[in-house]
Order: sequence, then structure tokens, then C-alpha cells
Amino acid sequence: MAEKFDVLLRNGTLVDPKNGIEAQRDIAISGGKVVMVAETIEGSAEREHDLTGKVVMPGIIDTHVHISRWVGGKEGHKMMAKAGVTTALDMAGPIEGVVELAGSHGAGLNIASINYVRPGHTVDTANPLEDELKDVLAKSQRAGAIGLKILGGHFPLTKDASARVMKVCADTGAYVAFHAGTLETPPPAPATMAEACELAEGRPLHMPHVNSYCRNEGVMGGEEVMDKLAEHPHIWSESYLAPFNGTSALCSNGVPESNATKRGVALGGFEPTQAGMEESILGGWTHIHAVVDGEIVLATGQEGYDFWKSVEMQTGCSFMVNPPEPRMHLVTKKKKDGSFFIDCLATDGGGIPRNDIVQRGLPLVRMTALTISEFVMKSSWTPAVMLGLRDKGHLAVGADADVTVLDMEKLEPVLAYSNGKRIMENGVVFPMPSRFITTSEGVAAVKAAGMEALVLEPGTWLPARG
Ligand SMILES: [Zn+2]
Repeated sequence: MAEKFDVLLRNGTLVDPKNGIEAQRDIAISGGKVVMVAETIEGSAEREHDLTGKVVMPGIIDTHVHISRWVGGKEGHKMMAKAGVTTALDMAGPIEGVVELAGSHGAGLNIASINYVRPGHTVDTANPLEDELKDVLAKSQRAGAIGLKILGGHFPLTKDASARVMKVCADTGAYVAFHAGTLETPPPAPATMAEACELAEGRPLHMPHVNSYCRNEGVMGGEEVMDKLAEHPHIWSESYLAPFNGTSALCSNGVPESNATKRGVALGGFEPTQAGMEESILGGWTHIHAVVDGEIVLATGQEGYDFWKSVEMQTGCSFMVNPPEPRMHLVTKKKKDGSFFIDCLATDGGGIPRNDIVQRGLPLVRMTALTISEFVMKSSWTPAVMLGLRDKGHLAVGADADVTVLDMEKLEPVLAYSNGKRIMENGVVFPMPSRFITTSEGVAAVKAAGMEALVLEPGTWLPARG
């Protein structure tokens, strides 16, 4: 008797670098897992897709997104699913909102989150001591987070406190990322990243959006930061391809709250104040994150200004600050041994409208700046290793049925499955609760938000190497 599966993906070109496959394969899915991979699979399924001419890859894992109450938590899930993403790491929290919205506004993705260390919000001052940081970490974990984020570029801590955050996380195997920059060494400059590398003192660390540390130095800045990372193999890194950054548009006491926003406004030739911000929006320089049809888009001029006012400035904004050369250079440059200087291709997207791993990554494949296998390595397999997700990032029998299907003519994702569930087909997204990646400490909070938990042991992520 022929076997009956939940889903059959037929005739696609499977690209699975972990298992050394780049060939036509059928894939059978049942119970949320890959149950068979073969040239031809007999039998039938509840749903079958003929993927002739399409590339089938393990689901895209974006290691840097924002889906909080402040930044796109309501819209980001739909935006990511549409972009073919099946797993994402929220890179700042606040964790409570990330968990709640992943339950209520999910699109079936696997979501993890790290919570921010911010003076006046989660810590009292810019120089928190070890006991206070341990408390923040424990609280964050109980709320569902897997670790902490240091927001140096926006809300810097002292050098010593930044180092303490990394120590406290390393001591318990918690995840930690550091947007480089301290009170003593403000961004933007490769020097901030060099300092962050030293402050880690050989401990595990996720270095986010490496491209942002060499905005003003072009390709040469890229060389400098890549050499620095090569000296620190304990640090895992990602960079993104979009031309614009993303920050907060909120002002208080007449000035933008975030230092990154102040710098962005000033870069356009405007005063780094609320008045300057208004002028810069109306003048077409500052792009406001506006909600249109349940998705966030960039809006400037009167449209951007009106939206910004209508939400009382409680939204994000972007500046066109990323020159093209370092962005492409950082994604493609390899070491002598063939490995990449920057581990993962990420987006810093989610609720920021740049979920462009496929949209801007596949053109690099067409230009033969990356092979398709390297693209999959940087956007799925390596991110899975970095996040400690052993059943993701590849499609061997027994792996989670997270799949992204690519149309190589249109350079678009056309189908995505997460844990065996169809979350997107031809741009249509199917709303359902997320699955939340957490530690045993966070399970209760995740369940209370109506989600299944994917429980990881602390320390399985950011594995040691080198
Ligand atoms: Zn970010």
C-alpha cells in the first residue's frame, strides 16, 4: 500500500549544504518533520506541490530582527513569512511584548528573543553591577528570553558594565549580543567593534549588523572589522544588505531619545532636535516606519510626517546611511580556508521593512558573488548552528520541516513551511501562533501567551570554535 504523508514537495532542486545535496529531490513531510528525501517518492499526501524549476532550501533563519511592541511586533511576523523566513531572533525585546505579540500576531514562525539592557528601563544606571545584571537576566529568562542585548549604539553602558553583561551571560550559558559602542567609545566607527571584541575577553558573543560599524569607511572599514573578527573566533557575526538603518523616531524633551537617531538627523544636515527631526521628515531625509495594510513601509515627506504625528512619534525611522560597497563586501568575502569572515546573512528586519535575505541576497547569486549553496549556508545552516538549533538549517530525515522555496527567475520566495505547517504561499500569509524558542525558565510565559515552546539548553548556542 502506498504511503500517505501530510505534505509532498515534488520535483524541486534541493539545496542542502549540510548534507551535501544540490540536486532534484522529492521531500515528504509528516508530523512536522521531514520523513523521506528521495529522487522519487511514491505515495500521496494531504497537500502536494509541484516545484519543478524551483529551489527548495531549509527554512531561512534570520538571526537579527525586531518584533517588539515598539518596533513592528504586530506587523513583523507577516512581513517575515512573506519574505520566506521561518525562524528569527528578535534582537532587543522588550521581551514581554515580543512574547505576547508572537502569540497573538504570529505567522507560525519559530521565534527567539533577547532582552535589552537599557538604563532607566531594565537597569537603573549606565553602570550596572553584577548582581543587578544577574537579576535582569533571570527576569528576562522567566519572561521567555534566551539572553541579553547590549544596546551600545543607542543607549550605551560604561565599558566595564558592557563587559559585565557578557560575563554574567557566559557564566550561565545565556545568549548575548552587543551592538558595539560604550559611553567611553561612541559609534560609529570600526573602533567601537574592536573595543567590543576585546571586552568579550574570549567569551561567546553575537556581533550584530557588522556593516553598521564601517558606514563611513567604505570597503577599507570592512577589511578592518573582518580582520578583527578573524582574531576572535569565539564571536559569531552577521551583516545585512539593505541601504538604510532602523532606529526609534521617539523624541522626549525636544530631542530624539536614541543617539543613533540624533546622528541620522544630523547627517542629513538638520539639527539633532525634535524640530530638526520634523524638518528632516518633511524634507524627505528621515523615513518614518508607517503602517499600510498591516505591513510597515518607509514613508517620508507629508505622508511620513502625518503618520509620525498620528502615533505620537511612537514608531521607528530609517536613514539611507549604508553605502553599497561594504554591504556586499562583508556578505561575500571569504578567508583562505573557504569560510566566510561574516557568518550569517541577516536583515535587522522583522518590523523594520527590510526582510531582504531573498530579495537582496539572491541577486548576489545571480551575479555569482555567492553560489546558491553558499547562500543557503549563510541564511540557514550557519544561523542554525549559531542558535543551537540542531534540527533546523538542513533537511535530512528527522529534521524539522522548515522549508523555503525560491523562484530563481523572479528572485522571490514562493512557498514556506514551518514545522510542517504552510505559513506562506505566493505571497499569502496564514496567521497562526508562533513557536517560541526559550529555556526551561521561560516555558510558563510562552505557554501563557498561547504558544508551544521549543526548549533549548543554555549554552547550546554560540558554540566555541577556533
Ligand atoms: Zn537591530
